[in-house]
Amino acid sequence: MSITVNKICIIGTGLIGGSLALGLKKAKFCEHITGCGRSEDTLKKAMELDVIDSYEMDMAKAVSGADIVVVSVPLGAIRSVFEKIRPGLGETTVVTDAGSAKQCVIREANEIFPSKHYFIAGHPIAGTEKSGVTAAFDNLFENRKVILTPDENTDKTALALIEIMWQSVGAEVEFMSAEHHDLVLAGTSHLPHLLAFGLVDCLNNLDDVDEVFKYAAGGFHDFTRIASSDPDMWRDICLGNRDEVMSMMRRFKQEMENIYRALEDNDGDKLKTIFSRSKKIRDLFCEKNS
Ligand code: NAP
Repeated sequence: MSITVNKICIIGTGLIGGSLALGLKKAKFCEHITGCGRSEDTLKKAMELDVIDSYEMDMAKAVSGADIVVVSVPLGAIRSVFEKIRPGLGETTVVTDAGSAKQCVIREANEIFPSKHYFIAGHPIAGTEKSGVTAAFDNLFENRKVILTPDENTDKTALALIEIMWQSVGAEVEFMSAEHHDLVLAGTSHLPHLLAFGLVDCLNNLDDVDEVFKYAAGGFHDFTRIASSDPDMWRDICLGNRDEVMSMMRRFKQEMENIYRALEDNDGDKLKTIFSRSKKIRDLFCEKNS
């Protein structure tokens, strides 16, 4: 397999796909980037913003002749995209994705692609609460982690190509199993999003909701920023990683019950122990990541 990259096709030129295209252009990683997706308006906008060099509405045509195809659509659309691109894929085309859960995507890829060797499952741990191509920017992945989840059947050259692609936009690539990825991300990303959505919804159901939001301060703003994320995308992520998310929710419910019991018992020591432990862990995390 050649490592020269002429054409990259990005299916889904939204925040992630668009930012990757911009980063790859800045790095001069390839000769040509073609965009493809659902609505022509988005692709026209992507052209206008110089995110892609050309676009094609027919998915099989769009991927024809591509060295790399990056599928960056919501998880619920991945299966239909895989089906549509399949007839256009060349023998050495490497397909990768950016989906936030990995086992569900790998299952679809294994079913749909004739040879699973050239599919590399990936997930950039970067993003914002904004969506769409207008939110894309070229350094989104700089110094951010990208997780690739190969297995024993994964082609090493294809894996190296996708690793180099992400490194070219400044990302730090790590490898882990899809199972481990889904468990870790359920805890660090999917559960926090559910908590933010759930908190806002819970407060919204209070009788004096306007009064509550009027006095919401910085802490509320920080904690709920991610509740402004795209609802369709998060529905798909929760359903795609359902078992792991439910398992994390059960653990969290247990934690909340502990705290509830401490309050019921007027147990200040217990509360302080939990809060001190959490503060220490978060302070350490922030120190390491500053
Ligand atoms: P986004 O900004 O909403 O972009 C999604 C893109 O996919 C849009 O260009 C959209 O086209 C296209 N699309 C939607 N449905 C489609 C379909 N049925 N067929 C073809 N194209 C379709 O979303 P994003 O934030 O870039 O997320 C893309 C992927 O990256 C998701 O799988 C997500 O889980 C993952 N991810 C997201 C983040 C994050 O923080 N946002 C971080 C890491 C990974 P239209 O404009 O025409 O609708």
